[in-house]
Amino acid sequence: MKTNLFGLFQEEIAEHIREHKLEKYRAKQIAEWMYRHHASSFSEMTTLSKKMQAVLEEHFVIERVTCVRQKVSADNKTIKFLFSFADGETAETVLMRQPYGNSVCLSTQVGCAMGCLFCASTLAGLKRNLTAGEILSQLLYVQKILGEEEQHVTSIVLMGSGEPLVNYDNVVRFLRLCHEPYTMGLSYRSMTLSTCGIVPSIYRLADEELPITLSISLHAPNDEIRSEIMPINRKYGIDEVLRASEAYYEKTGRRITYEYTLIDGKNDMISCADELVRRLRGQNANVNLIPVNPVPERGLNRPSLTRINRFCSYLQDHKIQTTIRKEMGTDIDAACGQLRNQYLKQKK
Ligand code: SF4
Repeated sequence: MKTNLFGLFQEEIAEHIREHKLEKYRAKQIAEWMYRHHASSFSEMTTLSKKMQAVLEEHFVIERVTCVRQKVSADNKTIKFLFSFADGETAETVLMRQPYGNSVCLSTQVGCAMGCLFCASTLAGLKRNLTAGEILSQLLYVQKILGEEEQHVTSIVLMGSGEPLVNYDNVVRFLRLCHEPYTMGLSYRSMTLSTCGIVPSIYRLADEELPITLSISLHAPNDEIRSEIMPINRKYGIDEVLRASEAYYEKTGRRITYEYTLIDGKNDMISCADELVRRLRGQNANVNLIPVNPVPERGLNRPSLTRINRFCSYLQDHKIQTTIRKEMGTDIDAACGQLRNQYLKQKK
């Protein structure tokens, strides 16, 4: 079995190549070739001798994602990729060209076990966790495309398929890895992790001293509605989630974002907005309203524009900082998991 070097830190690469009598400084070159210059084979690493390349080829591999589907929105601002990993499993990644820069939404698991009602990623359950290298490879694929246009990724959001905090070790490893100067050199402040509220892991993340933004998928103002939309709420109720979020803010100083998907007739009533105001009053947080992306399999509908604006105004009038998420790529099935589901159906 050859060892996959993609997804390793420079020091770890050095450890591996030392066994084959390659000097430590070669690890830096290998890391830069893989992560900065997007090399897929050792023969592309022209600063290494042919002999070194042959040694590496014999013992190691570089596993990158391959793109099996790609959809571009009509306005060319959103590109959705379906990537395949070494074992043939697939997950989605989205590039969003925003006015403030290029943001990439990454998947952290193949499928998801969390069962959120509005989400297509969970329809076929969880297949497996993604490794740090597999998450990084999604990002670098997009970075390569942007690089050809002399642009670069400015921010990342872990908001694709999967619950990042269930895949904790790989996710934290990935965050540290893409902060390294020989990979992406991304600042922690340009990273956002979205969770459905795995309470013990929120406390653990607060202790990591990574000043990333935490985004909490709230989607309801009380346990009754939240448990209906998000089964995880039966394990970690809304009070517990809000307490953990406040603790995260106190420890990191990073303001929390609460995601609230608006579903017609389920959580978009003024009574819900009022309850939300009472829960969030006094917190240094902002609410991001997301009109639901229709998931035909679940029969969920998007509220009318009037209802969306009414909900938003109610929060704003009560001093809760609120935005409505700008829609991007609805013409290319931008809801998380839809492209993969179509691909799996066609494959069958
Ligand atoms: S919203 Fe996130 S946590 Fe919920 S099912 Fe979808 S991928 Fe999983």
